[in-house]
Amino acid sequence: MGDIAANYRLVKERIGRAKENSGRQGEEITLVAVTKAVTPGVIREAVALGINNFGENRVQEVLPKIEELPGDITWHFIGHLQGNKVKFVLPRFALIHSLDRLSLAKEINRQAEKLGKVVEVLVQVDIAGEETKYGLAPGETGTFIETVAREYPFIKVKGLMTMAPFEDDPEEVRPVFRELKKMSAGLQVPGVELKELSMGMTNDYEVAVEEGATIVRIGTALFKGGYRD
Ligand SMILES: *Cc1c(COP(=O)(O)O)cnc(C)c1O
Repeated sequence: MGDIAANYRLVKERIGRAKENSGRQGEEITLVAVTKAVTPGVIREAVALGINNFGENRVQEVLPKIEELPGDITWHFIGHLQGNKVKFVLPRFALIHSLDRLSLAKEINRQAEKLGKVVEVLVQVDIAGEETKYGLAPGETGTFIETVAREYPFIKVKGLMTMAPFEDDPEEVRPVFRELKKMSAGLQVPGVELKELSMGMTNDYEVAVEEGATIVRIGTALFKGGYRD
């Protein structure tokens, strides 16, 4: 069994150090604990430690877990989202990190209108251009956000998200994070404030924080040892 309390302490320490390294001491960074393959019992332990933001990427697996857990948890949807799953995700999740195509925006808007709620999303960008990753090409992201802002009033774009390729040395992916930050600063879309940058996972979150992440998504570093199937 991993010791979540110790893991959490270490992750927080490292985030703190990365903030210091980059002169971001005063800034708030949201730690999203990624609980795919983590049981509700373990999630409850994490809640007891003060973690309140959790991320999941598989709709079918997470819905029964959410039913078992306290209602005040903030859930983040971080995986590839199929159109036919949107109606299950919207009522439960506070932020969707993975808007990556107009057909999905259309369906989110349609279901959000039915619920009478404005849904907050991040636009997923594939900075590294990996074929295996979802996300918009950097060059099409500005136009995409303009279209969403113009045509889908029940969607509020809050920022950008990316997944960096896995590298043994996280320094290798620093340019990916730097590029996302630069893009976000350079995109001017009326009525849209790109405040959030969701970037950084177990392997590279310190580099991501140094490059401006406002949200990190961390699973393995918190829950490793005995909890994964
Ligand atoms: C699994 C996952 C994470 C967490 O990855 P770890 O390496 O376990 O920290 C973060 N973001 C996304 C989109 C994921 O699918």
